[in-house]
Amino acid sequence: MQLNKSVSTVCRSALLALCSCLAATPALAQTPPMDRKWATPSAHVFIHVDMPPACDAATQRAIDTWNAQGSRWTYGWTSQNYQTDRQAYVGRVTIAPQRLSPSVPGQATRYPNTGTMMNSAWVGINDQMLYWNGSYYTADGDLQCPTSGGVASNRYSFEYVALHELGHSLGFGHHNDYSCAMSYGTFAGDTRTRPCAAEAAELRRQYGAR
Ligand SMILES: [Zn+2]
Repeated sequence: MQLNKSVSTVCRSALLALCSCLAATPALAQTPPMDRKWATPSAHVFIHVDMPPACDAATQRAIDTWNAQGSRWTYGWTSQNYQTDRQAYVGRVTIAPQRLSPSVPGQATRYPNTGTMMNSAWVGINDQMLYWNGSYYTADGDLQCPTSGGVASNRYSFEYVALHELGHSLGFGHHNDYSCAMSYGTFAGDTRTRPCAAEAAELRRQYGAR
């Protein structure tokens, strides 16, 4: 996932107008690709102890959202756990602070690195967008973690980033529809908290309907 701070913060209205154009273009209304799959429709999310505790609720909302799309897919979760090895834990998705490019709020890495199947994943959240208080990251950086609802117009939504990266972690690739969760990027004030209907349908098709 990428963002552009200068465009997002200075020209938010222009970007939103562009998004409306994109969403209204029939050629871009496409089936979101599921480019990797788990052998079974479940994984357990470990929220690393260095993640801001204030963001746990937003992570859990994103997890609950993916679990509520009528598919057999189920994310479990455990908060505030230690893990340093990114790929040794089969069945696990770890969310942890990670140094990423300044234009990238989050990144998902899926293991093994090749093939169409996976058995674990690592979600890195840009540590330069989190605030380090000397002991752990807080929610006072560019990534905002409100208890509920949206984010400020000049901040980025942690809940959207979590939703997007957890979408990669269950197998989705990118597509261009900005009404969906798996578009290429985010922007300041992004209000998206749910996958679109096409993504929910693809999730049910790939992992079975409930
Ligand atoms: Zn992405």
